[in-house]
Amino acid sequence: MSEQIGLFGESNDSHSDIAQNAMKRVQELHQLLHKYNHQYYVLDDPTVPDSEYDSLFHELKALEAETPEFVTADSPTQRVGDKPLSEFKSVTHEMPMLSLDNVFNEEEMRAFDLKIKKLLGLQDSAKVEYACEPKLDGIAASLLYENGVLVRGATRGDGSRGEDITMNLRTVPSIPLRLTGSGFPARLEVRGEVYMPKRGFEKLNENALAAGEKAFVNPRNAAAGSLRQLDPKLTAKRPLEFCCYSVGIVEGGSLPDSHFEVLNQFKEWGFLTNAEMRCVKGVDGCIEYYEALSEKRDSLQYEIDGIVFKVNAFELQDRLGFVSRAPRWAIAHKFPAQEKITILQDVEFQVGRTGAITPVGRLDPVFVGGVTVSNVTLHNMDEVHRLGLMIGDSVVVRRAGDVIPQVVKIVEDRRPDSAKSVVMPAVCPVCSSDIERTEGEAVARCTGGLVCAAQRKEAFVHFASRKAMDIDGLGEKLINVLVEKDMVTRLADIFRLESSALAALDRMGEKSAEKLLKSLENSKETTFARFLYSLGIREVGEATAQNLANAFGNLDNLIAASEERLNEVEDIGPIVAAYIVHFFANGSNRDAVSDLVAQGVHWKDVEVADPEDLPLLGFTYVLTGTLETMSRGDGKEMLQRLGAKVAGSVSKKTSCVVAGPGAGSKLAKAEELGVDVIDEAAFILFLKGHGINLD
Ligand code: NAD
Repeated sequence: MSEQIGLFGESNDSHSDIAQNAMKRVQELHQLLHKYNHQYYVLDDPTVPDSEYDSLFHELKALEAETPEFVTADSPTQRVGDKPLSEFKSVTHEMPMLSLDNVFNEEEMRAFDLKIKKLLGLQDSAKVEYACEPKLDGIAASLLYENGVLVRGATRGDGSRGEDITMNLRTVPSIPLRLTGSGFPARLEVRGEVYMPKRGFEKLNENALAAGEKAFVNPRNAAAGSLRQLDPKLTAKRPLEFCCYSVGIVEGGSLPDSHFEVLNQFKEWGFLTNAEMRCVKGVDGCIEYYEALSEKRDSLQYEIDGIVFKVNAFELQDRLGFVSRAPRWAIAHKFPAQEKITILQDVEFQVGRTGAITPVGRLDPVFVGGVTVSNVTLHNMDEVHRLGLMIGDSVVVRRAGDVIPQVVKIVEDRRPDSAKSVVMPAVCPVCSSDIERTEGEAVARCTGGLVCAAQRKEAFVHFASRKAMDIDGLGEKLINVLVEKDMVTRLADIFRLESSALAALDRMGEKSAEKLLKSLENSKETTFARFLYSLGIREVGEATAQNLANAFGNLDNLIAASEERLNEVEDIGPIVAAYIVHFFANGSNRDAVSDLVAQGVHWKDVEVADPEDLPLLGFTYVLTGTLETMSRGDGKEMLQRLGAKVAGSVSKKTSCVVAGPGAGSKLAKAEELGVDVIDEAAFILFLKGHGINLD
């Protein structure tokens, strides 16, 4: 090797150093990837995100491509998975179960298609037929059927030997124990993915956390862990599904000659196939499919981490063959990473409108899920402790779809010696008032109320916002200045601002000051609902404020309302009812309200229906299933007109459930609790009986 060009293009002088460094790096990568493989495939407990694994894997592949003499038989690039666990009997795969090669962008996808055509001796312009399938994020399984009966189920293991998990696979409802129909080969091996749908995964983790057990990192690990239980009864309790996507052994019979047709045949024999599966012509079709499914990804009931494209005709697949760990005729186009590792540089504490103190992580900026993330909410100190987080830690940040970024875990073995604990300050970082945490609440709060500049700023921002008092020209920046200069303390102070003082502020001037005073004046004419919303009562959002206005009509009635009476109002439960009562029981809040009214804030009281006209006052209804003669929204509105509260879930307090066709868990719950259930016909009669004309 001594006379070759250096690995990274340098001259020969430093060549042996470079080769040595490259060799060292290859060994490091082997070690790391072997460790991560073991954690992922054997322990079902990865410590780094897939993106980290994939980039190390690609680095190794690139080094090996440049220096083929470094490729060893045990290199992670030459192997599938990891050795199977010894707890289970081992199974030798008569036909190896391979992995898939990956591409990460359109350019690589086009290069894959060109390579296929080259290998097949086709022109560059030819359009190969590809079967397209979501890449389900679960664990591969092989099912062997003899004369239509399931005789063995196994994991992929290292591709040539897997684990015999027949007993466990038998508990998965979508795996046929006996094939339906006829015409199947005497020996048939069906391959596919066992996965855990998102909903089942969330429930499993909720239950695990409630029982003080460790939660699974993601549905893939949950599925793998569930399948590798030594007690099949435990597997049976896990919400697993099996979807078939390929074929292994075929003896004593034959199958159609394309991938797509075979999967359709499997469907007829009782297997689940993926509903998104399509056949397309040419690479453009693949790219279109990829884009369409990327859009749909978040709404799917299961996790996918990319799309798999397979040359459809078996004859072409046979001609293409495979390399050490993957077939040449298939490729996985992976989605951009939703999890990345970065460093937690610091934790700061922010004070919200209600005084809630939120720890916020400052991160080394990281590109994840399509955006650069540099701040992440850590929610509260319970979460900081649950994660075992320290400043300086390497953290896995997840951003999936539109969900706000989260720290999902730390990479423990990367903790530096200089790591520092995260400590909640004893006093508010803004106003130095005490911080208090009520028993049973996760959130700590600053006790400063409007004394606290942070809370005051937030309270004014909320008060002036478009859906509240809608004060044009009074934005966050100006509010910050007004609060910092102590020009406003109480809400009504905003209406006492004088033109000269405003004009003297930086970047204001007389014209802007006059404009602001005008919009302040205009804002005084408002509605009861907006006014209530603008007060910033805890948990009273726009819709709740509107419901309160409709139910009580004026301020005096609302202030006089008991918790029980508030509880009867649409969308208001006991917690919000208590917040409202507490708010008005506080003298300074009542003063703040009178002060605003004294400054000229006014509204028209809302006409409230006479309780006599509200025969369903105090009754709670739930609508479920499909209604044929009206929408559920219309049904809800009619019930509300009669004074009923319409809730989204069934409880002991539900008075009646209106159930249309397709009603599921809510109907079952009502039956379990002995709540009255009526169908649509009875509902219509009932409404007519109360004078509601449906024609
Ligand atoms: P893979 O997951 O990239 O692709 C192959 C697998 O895809 C198949 O074995 C099958 O189980 C699955 N699959 C899903 N839908 C399919 C479909 N429609 N058709 C065919 N196969 C389908 O490969 P792999 O070898 O199982 O795992 C490698 C990947 O696992 C890496 O790229 C990495 O992302 C991840 N990994 C992560 C770590 C870690 O520490 N985080 C460690 C090892 C591997």
